[in-house]
Amino acid sequence: MLRDAIRSLAEAKIAPHAALVDEEARFPREALDALVAADLHAVHVPESYGGSGADALATVIVIEEVARVCASSSLIPAVNKLGSLPVILSGSEDLKKKYMMPLAKGDGMFSYCLSEPDAGSDAVGMKTKAVRDGDFYVLNGVKRWITNAGESQYYTVLAVTDPSKRSKGISAFVVEKSDEGVSFGAPERKLGIKGSPTREVYLDNVRIPADRMIGAEGTGFATAMKTLDHTRVTIAAQAVGIAQGALDYAKGYVQERKQFGKPIADFQGIQFMLADMAMKLEAARQLTYSAAAKSERGDSDLTFFGASAKCFASDAAMEITTDAVQLLGGYGYTRDYPVERMMRDAKITQLYEGTNQVQRIVMARNLPGA
Ligand SMILES: Cc1cc2nc3c(=O)[nH]c(=O)nc-3n(C[C@H](O)[C@H](O)[C@H](O)COP(=O)(O)OP(=O)(O)OC[C@H]3O[C@@H](n4cnc5c(N)ncnc54)[C@H](O)[C@@H]3O)c2cc1C
Repeated sequence: MLRDAIRSLAEAKIAPHAALVDEEARFPREALDALVAADLHAVHVPESYGGSGADALATVIVIEEVARVCASSSLIPAVNKLGSLPVILSGSEDLKKKYMMPLAKGDGMFSYCLSEPDAGSDAVGMKTKAVRDGDFYVLNGVKRWITNAGESQYYTVLAVTDPSKRSKGISAFVVEKSDEGVSFGAPERKLGIKGSPTREVYLDNVRIPADRMIGAEGTGFATAMKTLDHTRVTIAAQAVGIAQGALDYAKGYVQERKQFGKPIADFQGIQFMLADMAMKLEAARQLTYSAAAKSERGDSDLTFFGASAKCFASDAAMEITTDAVQLLGGYGYTRDYPVERMMRDAKITQLYEGTNQVQRIVMARNLPGA
């Protein structure tokens, strides 16, 4: 029922704009408005803070169905979860009330600022600093690759509070777009998810009250990693959605396209490709849903399952979308058909929230027990 409701909304209000959003590399405002109107922009926010209190599996289904028609738009619910989960997991009650309520109402989106120009896979190498000054912290530094930067009102920012302690010297803060000293770089010119703005966030002597720290000093990195355990499941969902969109389109196309006097769907070579695509997609979906259940329960093996779902589903999405282009022949290679956009969009799922090499490092360090 949930899936049907989101699918109709996505097809009616988001899909019609997906090609133009990509072509013009512009924020999908229509999608944000439709998601907010239907209360689907940040479904993970607990009911106690005015949200819908959707569990991890329901959240995954929302993201999957939006990604099926427009990957850029699916980053609205996905990054609202990524940005705000540190507050939900580790923030004070006051911080939760202050920031989850406007997020739930649709009055502001949340972004997540971990990466820096010289600190990507090795995020502990970050240089952004937060220095205590009485009842305030003063933040200075550059965060890079920040999804929805400029559009979001709120930013979870990771910064070094004690350089001698490496990961235990990193703390998390909520920074607001309107804080003095916050500014943004030009949008990155990307291969895919062109409708989702990715920009640098500059922090120039940003002075914020000390109670905007999320959790205790020095716990920020642990919170950031715990967050990723949960949200990698949402990237897996995004990958599943993109792949489903490509498979659905290709399935329809091969029935219509005729060569050698019959629909190309009649050729066994085509049928075998579709069978492989559907098999990989279903395996990715099952792993994603199983990881979502673990996320909801907070199981001890979530780290492995979050990483494996994201890694497997994104690799599958890349293969499935590439095969979808193949099934459309030369037409698939043009912007007149959506599968080339889906193939470009799928690529990012192998890169962000940790590249798939990093996921393999995470899995190897957290192999499930016997
Ligand atoms: C569109 C987009 C949106 C993003 N959104 C956000 C966001 O909202 N917030 C945020 O904080 N970050 C975001 N990121 C950043 C993203 O998470 C990083 O790009 C990613 O973690 C990789 O870091 P890097 O680009 O610096 O690559 P590097 O770390 O420089 O890696 C380069 C290559 O080396 C490989 N590599 C690195 N270390 C190892 C190793 N130990 N073993 C094997 N291979 C290794 C990598 O896998 C990769 O192939 C986004 C990135 C993009 C492109």
